[in-house]
Amino acid sequence: MDNCIFCKIVRGEIPARQVYEDELVLAFHDIQPQRPTHILVIPKRHIASLAEVTSADEPVLGRMLAIAQQLARAHGSADGFRAIINTGRVGGQEVPHLHMHIVGGPDPVGPMLKKI
Ligand code: AMP
Ligand code: ZN
Repeated sequence: MDNCIFCKIVRGEIPARQVYEDELVLAFHDIQPQRPTHILVIPKRHIASLAEVTSADEPVLGRMLAIAQQLARAHGSADGFRAIINTGRVGGQEVPHLHMHIVGGPDPVGPMLKKI
């Protein structure tokens, strides 16, 4: 996707504070952190949202969840974290490339539906 901002990060065309990469996913600090820990995990391949996934995406979706705890622990949220995937208009998704927020820090992140 030529104009997708997260695809541009995957291709190295715009900078990001990357914290993890493997063959399926990339993780980097959110540019406007809402909590002391705020990392985004994205599939390297463009998937618009969680509303577009198919069974073929199960490996990358599994990887996104499986690495969350190590990223949270390594970046200041050792005592739990929240994983959020905003999806589509109703879910308040702003960047149309699937991404999982990992938010946390030393203190509880707050009520579940409060805007992060
Ligand atoms: P969402 O509302 O779930 O689509 O969240 C999009 C997130 O992407 C927001 O938290 C933004 O701060 C973040 N974001 C947008 N552009 C960048 C960027 N270039 N690098 C890192 N994070 C970004
Ligand atoms: Zn993309």
